Amino acid sequence: MLTQKPEAVKAQGTGARPSGSTVVCYFEDAFVPLAEAKVGVMTHGFLYGTAVFEGIRAYWNAEQGQLYGLKLADHYRRLTQSTRVMLMDSPYTVDELVGLTVDLLRRNGFREDTYVRPSFYKSTEAIGVRLHNLESKFLVFAIPFGNYIDTEGGITAQTVSWRRNSDVSIPARSKIVGAYVNSAFAKSEAQLNGYDEAIVLTLDGHASEGSAENLFMVRDGVLITPPVTDDILEGITREALMELAEREMGLRVVERSIDRSELYVADEVLLCGTGAQVSPVISIDHRQIGTGRVGPIGGRLKDLYFEAVRGRSPAYSRWLTPIY
Ligand code: PMP
Repeated sequence: MLTQKPEAVKAQGTGARPSGSTVVCYFEDAFVPLAEAKVGVMTHGFLYGTAVFEGIRAYWNAEQGQLYGLKLADHYRRLTQSTRVMLMDSPYTVDELVGLTVDLLRRNGFREDTYVRPSFYKSTEAIGVRLHNLESKFLVFAIPFGNYIDTEGGITAQTVSWRRNSDVSIPARSKIVGAYVNSAFAKSEAQLNGYDEAIVLTLDGHASEGSAENLFMVRDGVLITPPVTDDILEGITREALMELAEREMGLRVVERSIDRSELYVADEVLLCGTGAQVSPVISIDHRQIGTGRVGPIGGRLKDLYFEAVRGRSPAYSRWLTPIY
């Protein structure tokens, strides 16, 4: 039974639709006020979760007066792959999608950290569960957004009872809207039990990922993360951290399955994602991880990541699209 511990159900990020604001989004082939972008109640994507999406961040650098879109092309490549899995056709190239996003951010004139949410959704208004013979449409909106989960002091996690949707049911490698009910089950079980985050296992009991984050552990100086065949989203932050670990820290990075109990004996555990950024985990299922504080590898990776995404590491400016 779940016990509600309100103090643990922290408000994380802002996430709410900016009310009464002048934010514009791209919807039905035009830039319109966010408050006016509405879909009908019979829209297939709403009835059956037949939509795919991305979560992208743009980071504000106050000294440079610049907003940087992070790995925009990587996100739109993954979104295009998701459309393919879901039998959708994208009429746009990756470059066009990046261009639309730059245009959107410019029109909004954001001068703060921003979250960008593009989506293709089955737009036909019809009953009947299927993927084929349905129209789809593209939309993208962006809102100001701070930290989604704590990145400073370390977080607590619970291995939840829900299992990750497997590639034989709903592929985790695609960001399919309906599949996020699985993440919602996981996150709520962990938070209502008083933990910050969920760790979700695959059907065969290996650690897959967090509710919306990829997972890393450190054992004997080696950075280890589950392979893309363990029902994970092929995360873009995961890729970024692997690059930073190898190039900047000279670490060995290994992709292999991880047992639940390995997490308990790991020196460090990290969760990462666009929303979560880099979040060291200091306790799992009441077991202290390592020293119970943010470890040296996780702490350094976090610093390297934030320097890169805010446009303070010239070597990683190729990850960034300047918006202004
Ligand atoms: N796993 C899941 C289930 C997610 O929703 C996310 C967030 N997109 C991630 C991992 C991290 O992926 P990324 O680094 O590409 O944001």
